[in-house]
Amino acid sequence: MASAGPHFGEEPVLVGKGGSGTVFFSGCSLDCVFCQNDDISHGVSGQKASPAQIAATAMRLAGTGCVNINFVTPTHVAHAVAQAIALIREGGCTVPVVYNCGGYEPVEVLRLLDGLVEIYMPDLKWADADAGRKYSGVPDYPAVATAALAEMYRQVGTLKTDGRGVATRGVLVRHLVMPDDLSRSRDVIDIVARTAPGCAINVMGQYHPAYRAGEFPELMAHVPRRNVDDLREYAASQGLVRADGVDRPDRDQRIDDQ
Ligand code: SF4
Repeated sequence: MASAGPHFGEEPVLVGKGGSGTVFFSGCSLDCVFCQNDDISHGVSGQKASPAQIAATAMRLAGTGCVNINFVTPTHVAHAVAQAIALIREGGCTVPVVYNCGGYEPVEVLRLLDGLVEIYMPDLKWADADAGRKYSGVPDYPAVATAALAEMYRQVGTLKTDGRGVATRGVLVRHLVMPDDLSRSRDVIDIVARTAPGCAINVMGQYHPAYRAGEFPELMAHVPRRNVDDLREYAASQGLVRADGVDRPDRDQRIDDQ
C-alpha cells in the first residue's frame, strides 16, 4: 500500500460528506509514459501489506465516515484485494467497494471479483491500439478494455445512487482527454456508449505533461478547454450520464489512477 486516506477530489457521487476512502497501491499494470502518479505507479513506495492489513485500513476509513472504499490501481494485486474485500464484509463493513483502475483488466480477473465489487471505475484511455502501444506499453488496449468494460457492466450495470446522491453500485467510466486527440476521444465515447449503454462518464480535462512525457513532443501540448466541453456534450448526446468532477490538481488526480 502506497497511501490511504479520505479523499475529497473524486467525482461528487463518490465523495458525499465523508469523502472517498482511497487505498493506493504501488505499481501499475500499465506503463503510461505521461503517468500523472509516477512516484507511486512506477516506483515502489509505501509498505508491504497482507490482505488483513489492507482490510483493516479500509475498515478504519469506513469508520471515519468515508462513503466508500476506493481501491486505486488494484489489478496487479487483485488477489490480495479480493481477500481483503472478503475480510471487510466478514467484519460487517457495508460501504460500497470502488475498483478504480486503468481499464486494462483481464476478464478472467474481473470474473473472480464478481460479487465483491459494487462500483467499477475504469479509466478508458485509448481507442487506438497503436497509441496504447506507444504511450501505455500494451499492444491491445482497445480490445482488452472493451471486453473488460462489458464484463464490469454485466456485473453491476449503470450507476445507481442513494437518497444522498452517493453512488451505491454501477460503472463510472473516466476518460482523460489527451493533446491532439491522441486517444481518439469520440471513438472512446462511442465504445462506452455501445458497450455500457447509459453508464456514467467523467470526461476529464486536467491532462498535463508528467513523468516521461518530455520524450514525446506531441505529449507536451495543451488540451483546449473547449475540446473537453464538446466531448462532454457529445457523451451526453450518446446517452451517457455525465459525472464530471471538478478538474483536480494532479496530486488529487490519482485516477487509477489512477
Ligand atoms: S494507468 Fe494510470 S497509474 Fe497506471 S501507468 Fe497509466 S497513468 Fe499511471
